[in-house]
Amino acid sequence: MTRQRAAIVDILDSSAEHLDARRLLAEARRRVPDIDKTTVYRTIRRLQDLGLIDELDLLHYKHEGHFYEPLPDKMHLHIVCTGCGKVVEMRPEAWARVEREVETGSGFSIETARVEMGGLCADCRKHPAGES
Ligand SMILES: [Zn+2]
Ligand SMILES: [Zn+2]
Repeated sequence: MTRQRAAIVDILDSSAEHLDARRLLAEARRRVPDIDKTTVYRTIRRLQDLGLIDELDLLHYKHEGHFYEPLPDKMHLHIVCTGCGKVVEMRPEAWARVEREVETGSGFSIETARVEMGGLCADCRKHPAGES
């Protein structure tokens, strides 16, 4: 693995948040000062092709923004707050049942899943925008 590729995988592994390409680039430059934008973007694409990272649009709450995370070993769903953009991850117990039902109904063997839900988080529900 090249130094650049290792750096990007490590950034994604250690990040608690879902980073977009711009923030990934900023973080990569802190670690590898001579890294250039094209290399970072090409590396992201390559890691996707290799199935090592996943690209998310998180309901497009930031319009065209795409976010990256290491491919999860276990299915998790993303809940995006449409008010403040906060992203929460959950691994619902019921998911295994949903997968079995989908497999039975479709005849597929499910290997990957991506579920995104949106709504207002508890904070935004307490303090609706425009209310003082
Ligand atoms: Zn919120
Ligand atoms: Zn995630």
